[in-house]
Amino acid sequence: MRIGVLGLQGAFREHVMTFEALGVATVVVRLPEQLSDINGLVIPGGESTAIGKLMMAYGFYDAIRQQHGAGMAVWGTCAGAILVAHEVLDAVPGQETLGIMDVAVRRNAYGRQVDSFEADLDFKHLEGDAFRGVFIRAPWIERVGEEVEVLAEHDGHIVAARERDMMATAFHPELTGDPRVHRFFLDHVVASS
Ligand code: GLN
Repeated sequence: MRIGVLGLQGAFREHVMTFEALGVATVVVRLPEQLSDINGLVIPGGESTAIGKLMMAYGFYDAIRQQHGAGMAVWGTCAGAILVAHEVLDAVPGQETLGIMDVAVRRNAYGRQVDSFEADLDFKHLEGDAFRGVFIRAPWIERVGEEVEVLAEHDGHIVAARERDMMATAFHPELTGDPRVHRFFLDHVVASS
């Protein structure tokens, strides 16, 4: 088992640290060639337009679609959730996504920077207490396709979902020190790819 975290921009180091704390071999992915030896890829939070531009420049769009087709699981957090979505509402004009997950995601849904907040979430399948969600200029998931399982909602909006070997979270589980969502990704999302 080996996990890659896309390291072009944003909060990728925290994901690496969380997986390493779980004892999982983790690599920072900076080139498309690195995708061939990982079982799962995390596209981190950050700025979806910046990450998307760098992904385009390095040829990641085709490479991720291809490796995902060959069995690589994918998890997008925050900006990453925007980048995996079929549809983005309030996108920057011309913003391109991977379009691999059957969800419509609304960018900056809660407003601007000042609207960053934390909230306790009832995250399906996790044992124990509520999961503390850290939302930073977060999107929410406005619609999900038939094959998509809703994992968490906040204030009537979907903030985490899973479709077979893909997961999207609107918040930042890597910033809480609570590894349960990372564990869920390994045990259920990667395991089903
Ligand atoms: N608002 C950012 C975007 O549109 C996402 C913010 C985040 O990833 N924390 O890409």
